[in-house]
Amino acid sequence: MGKVYTLPELPYGYGDLEPYISEQQLMLHHGKHHAAYVKGANDMLEKLDKSRKENGELDMKSALKSLSFNIGGHLLHSLFWKNMALKGRGGGSPGGALGDAIGKEFGSFERFRKEFTQAAASVEGSGWAALAYCKQTERPVIMQIEKHNTNVYPQFKILLALDLWEHAYYLDYKNDRAKFIEAFWNIVNWDEAGKRLEK
Ligand code: MN
Repeated sequence: MGKVYTLPELPYGYGDLEPYISEQQLMLHHGKHHAAYVKGANDMLEKLDKSRKENGELDMKSALKSLSFNIGGHLLHSLFWKNMALKGRGGGSPGGALGDAIGKEFGSFERFRKEFTQAAASVEGSGWAALAYCKQTERPVIMQIEKHNTNVYPQFKILLALDLWEHAYYLDYKNDRAKFIEAFWNIVNWDEAGKRLEK
């Protein structure tokens, strides 16, 4: 049997994103929701291992659906935590290569922010908004992700992801997703997104 997935530690304390994300909200989101995706992925790997060992029958379609849902959830949340920064260290606009790429593609950071905000606000049901980068065209693109499925643009590197599942904001903002998106702009970690572009 190979390695399994583990829940990463947050790069800050549970209370460190207040007042934009409350301690209780972050604790539940990381400690319960993200943890459940890690467990779900590991449980499915174990089930696959067991079935192979016993040469048993498995509903591959349903097994792989569950596996990709949980692995996608784990990877997106791992990215999301890094996409936010402690008070005073987040917000603003990106500099460096990422700032240049956004300026070139969208005309201005303000235009990018407007488009990303609209993309985030209009995600249907549970999903994510993300800023990705296409290596072929060398252009940044905004994308919407349904649930946790990131298989829309397989080669695109996600630089920034924003969780828009209700579990990400309901305790703090109830059904006011727009308020949560507005708050996110205060804690967005552009240094991290820029580093991902340069890698
Ligand atoms: Mn989430």
